[in-house]
Amino acid sequence: MSDAFEAPGRVSGRAPAHPAVNHGACTGDDRDLLAALGLEDKVRLLTGADNWRTCPLPVIGLGPMVMSDGPAGVRGITMDERNPSASLPCPSALGATWNPELVRTLAFALGTEAKSKGVDVLLAPTINVMRTPLGGRGFESFGEDPVLIARLAVAYVDGLRQAGVAAAAKHYVGNDSETQRWTYDARIAEHVLRELYLVPFEACVREADLDLVMTGYNRVNGTTMTEHAGLLSGILKDEWGFRGVALSDWHAARTTVATALAGLDLAMPGPEGPWGGQLAAAVRDGRVSEDQVDAKVLRILRLARRVGAFGRNGASLDGPAGNPGNGHRTAGTPVLADPSLLRRCAAAAFTLLRNDRGALPLDLGTIRSLAVIGPNAIRPVTQGGGSATVPPVSVSTPAGALTEALAGLAGVTVWPGCVNWSIVPEPEPAMLRDPEGGEPGVRLEFRTGTGELAATERRTATMFTWWDGLPGGISRGGADTIVLRARYRAGTGGPHVIGAGGVGYLTVAVDGTEVAAGHTDPPADPVEAMVRPGEIRAAVDLTAGREAEIAITLRPDDWPQGPVAIRLGVVPAPDADAMLAEAVEAARTADAAVVVVGSGPATESEGFDRAGLALPGRQDELVRRVAEVNGRTVVVVNAGMPVLMPWADQVAAVGYCWLPGQAMGDALADVLLGRAEPGGRLPVTIPAAEADCPVLHSVPEKGKLVYREGLLIGYRGYDQAGIRPRFPFGHGLGYTTWEYESVVADPQAAGPAGDIGLTVVIRNTGPRTGREVVQAYVEPLRPEAGRPVRTLAAFAAATAGPGQSAEVRLAVPGRAFARYDEEAGAWVWPPGEFSVRVGRSSADLRLSVPVRSLLSRTGRASRGREGPSRPVG
Ligand code: BGC
Repeated sequence: MSDAFEAPGRVSGRAPAHPAVNHGACTGDDRDLLAALGLEDKVRLLTGADNWRTCPLPVIGLGPMVMSDGPAGVRGITMDERNPSASLPCPSALGATWNPELVRTLAFALGTEAKSKGVDVLLAPTINVMRTPLGGRGFESFGEDPVLIARLAVAYVDGLRQAGVAAAAKHYVGNDSETQRWTYDARIAEHVLRELYLVPFEACVREADLDLVMTGYNRVNGTTMTEHAGLLSGILKDEWGFRGVALSDWHAARTTVATALAGLDLAMPGPEGPWGGQLAAAVRDGRVSEDQVDAKVLRILRLARRVGAFGRNGASLDGPAGNPGNGHRTAGTPVLADPSLLRRCAAAAFTLLRNDRGALPLDLGTIRSLAVIGPNAIRPVTQGGGSATVPPVSVSTPAGALTEALAGLAGVTVWPGCVNWSIVPEPEPAMLRDPEGGEPGVRLEFRTGTGELAATERRTATMFTWWDGLPGGISRGGADTIVLRARYRAGTGGPHVIGAGGVGYLTVAVDGTEVAAGHTDPPADPVEAMVRPGEIRAAVDLTAGREAEIAITLRPDDWPQGPVAIRLGVVPAPDADAMLAEAVEAARTADAAVVVVGSGPATESEGFDRAGLALPGRQDELVRRVAEVNGRTVVVVNAGMPVLMPWADQVAAVGYCWLPGQAMGDALADVLLGRAEPGGRLPVTIPAAEADCPVLHSVPEKGKLVYREGLLIGYRGYDQAGIRPRFPFGHGLGYTTWEYESVVADPQAAGPAGDIGLTVVIRNTGPRTGREVVQAYVEPLRPEAGRPVRTLAAFAAATAGPGQSAEVRLAVPGRAFARYDEEAGAWVWPPGEFSVRVGRSSADLRLSVPVRSLLSRTGRASRGREGPSRPVG
């Protein structure tokens, strides 16, 4: 596809000259309230009151609505370890469960926690499609297939709703890379949007009555998403009947009139922004009709009713922490109703990719000693970086959990083997004490330019971010400073590396002597500052068991829209060869080795894409050398997205645990010891080599990100090109084996109306009870260039005991046989023969049934009011 492909009609984003107004579904009561409001009050409702809250309007008894990120926990309005949150498996892990019911249950628990924190709107789920494995935010997405994403997203939205919390599905649309995410122009053909990227949004609107859609920063086909009349008003509201609120991503609304006319309803955050008085002025001088503003207000009032924001706490923004409605938790700990749920979910997501001669579960009859190896065994990465991060209550590590689980059963030794960090890791909290009172933690001091102490806090974290002003009223961009002090007790003597992170001028002092100083620049994206701010390093010698006082000082720069962050890292200076040699030696003498490798602390994040798919550091070498000396080497990959596994055929077992949240270690021990089934199936294809990826491209060229691959992302691309991936989409072994016995379809003719029901009989032929995910793919008999060989159409699961059979029913929707005809502006059903193939993965299809499509064209989508299609350049 060339860059100049046609993007006709709605997806070109051209605003109609006289936009019609879509009010959503308002009640008579809301219209009465509206009638009582003047223009100034109306526009006030359309911009946030602050970073996380909408404007209260006491005159109508409306309180503020509180928003929080999402999607793998509910952070509340601060990023503060004193207000921790349950940390869930990341969405790609949930994608691996292929289990909408589990996702619904988890989302309900998440909603319950949100409610306890006074949060009304969760900025989740992220339902962008993993276009490229390089995408920094891929871990935040459910997978590479729109049908899988749609099924899980609908369940997630429903689960939150049942708990009384509104979901803001994000980021509408084409927000699939992080590089230049504020501005890039995603060039996507309409049929590709319709058949891939819009599918999850459409499902959430049509099936789950979604409450909010968050528009991305990026452009699509030349128009910024917050100004995209075709996609916002045309497709989302008019065509799909979206009744909720279209809100901007944070600071994504950058114009007054174009955004207002396009169909954006709420600009976040506030109180500044392009609307407010400027919008009122645009109404007064006729550039925006008052009816447009009214439609937005009615949508916000409807949302307020749904989350119960009327009559709340005097409709005020003020109030003590713990007041529902102000975003703080009422109780001291997260309330995720069932504490074992996170552990069950992480085990259900664990995807067993290879299990040679039944290496797993570990056989404790023959394993008396286990070497637990790898950087991620000791310092796992349990969540991705950026707005999705929450301060977790606690984290169970693989090394800790396996040691505990095997106590008295087998001897466990623990070895990092190598490092995988690019910024100096934060020290264990237990190694730090407040220099003032001697209690665990660090001391933060906020000082004016003259050195006066404006505020001080004892804290138990080592990375801090402030988006909304600094304690003590100190300011950035001048001489005021933040000082982080701690007494650090080294576990081993010798050379150590201290890293001081932040944006601005930094110094590091040890026992009162300055050992490093320097300036760091703002990163390309504001969010990067909370994940991997610029760092200065100092090399120091420390004595084992003796405390040294470390002080880092930051004079924060003032830079647009970026937070202030300060971070302390300390580690013994790694001796890479010695680390490897020790680990290999331990593996040689152990009965089995578990090697946990994966992403480093700042590998996967919002704000930047990955440069490549190789494991960072010397992890590949570590795995190879351990496998050479121990035939029972089990590798666990701790990453939210695909990594290269050049050693995959040389080890006994490989599993993916994703970024599994706070229950990581316990869940891993459950799976490795056979107490839980590894329930996962891949939601994304794992390549054998980078060059095999259908899309290995996240960097815009001259501001444009051209989706040249069209429909052929993920397994669709591999299948078309005839390339075998390392592990295919949908693959996952579990601990038992399955026979696919029969499939019956009813009816056997496809069209727009009604599903085709499939009844599949499977039998558990292995020794254990297991859960099988039965996947159905639609294949046209005659493949066409540019179109996928097969596409996932439906999936369902069954549990059966050894020797038992199970009947699994799947509903293949009529849409699975259709395609979007850009000229007609409609879904069409080309007549022809299809085969519906059923099996265990996109590459392991065991049964099939023929289906005929009888209809040539129907289900025409109304083209709305833009008139005939016109090509755009
Ligand atoms: C992210 C959103 C997030 C918002 C608020 C933005 O930078 O793109 O996903 O919800 O910040 O934190």
